[in-house]
Order: sequence, then structure tokens, then C-alpha cells
Amino acid sequence: MNTDCVFCRIVAGELPTTVVRETETTLAFRDLDPKAPVHVLVIPKEHHADVAALALADPALAGDVLATAAEVAEAEGLRPDGFRLMFNTGRYGGQEVFHAHAHVLGGAPLGPMLAR
Ligand code: AMP
Repeated sequence: MNTDCVFCRIVAGELPTTVVRETETTLAFRDLDPKAPVHVLVIPKEHHADVAALALADPALAGDVLATAAEVAEAEGLRPDGFRLMFNTGRYGGQEVFHAHAHVLGGAPLGPMLAR
């Protein structure tokens, strides 16, 4: 655990959150500031700074994050109409929390992938 990391503190139970799914290796919880009707974050419980670091260090764990994201999309009823799965990575990617996380976004048309 990285004591300076807000998502590690959520995993440790030190910060409140709304958990929607938990596996041995991953945790899914609602975003504090939702950008869509459904906005869930899926993280590996183990600390990795971003998805690239995660995938290089532990591809199986990266797969666990994807599988949990798919389960969340199913459970939230997002599969028929579709959803967006997003990993902001690094400064140019707009990453704010440096613990790898997938955004599961859906529940309405999400518009273009990027603002121009
Ligand atoms: P990113 O820009 O990809 O790093 O996204 C970080 C996300 O984490 C943002 O959408 C924040 O609203 C969300 N966030 C930050 N702190 C918390 C928290 N304590 N609980 C839930 N979501 C959070």
C-alpha cells in the first residue's frame, strides 16, 4: 500500500466509498464526481501508477481489471446500449490519481471521444 495514494486508502478501508463490486484482486466503486449517469472506477487492489505500468508488470492483473469492468457494465445494465472504458494515463492523458484505474462510463450517449 502507498499511504499517499487515495485509491490505496480506499482499498485499505480508510476512506469511504460506494463499492459496486469486489474480487480478490480488484475493487469497483462509484466516482465521487460522476461524468455520466453511470461512472464507476475499477482498480487493481495492488498499487500500480497507471495502466501501462500495470500491464507491463502484471498482465494477468490487468486482465482482472478488464474482467471486473465488463462485469460492472453487465451489472449496471450498460451492455445493450454500450459504454466507454477509459484509462487516462499520465499528464497528457489527463490522469489525476496515479493508481491505475478504468473509468466505466455509460447510461446515456457519451458524445465524441475527444473534445476538439
Ligand atoms: P483520472 O483523471 O483518470 O485520474 O480520474 C480520477 C477520478 O477519480 C476522477 O474522476 C475523480 O472524480 C475520481 N476520484 C477522486 N477521488 C475519489 C474518491 N475518493 N472516491 C471516488 N472517486 C474519486
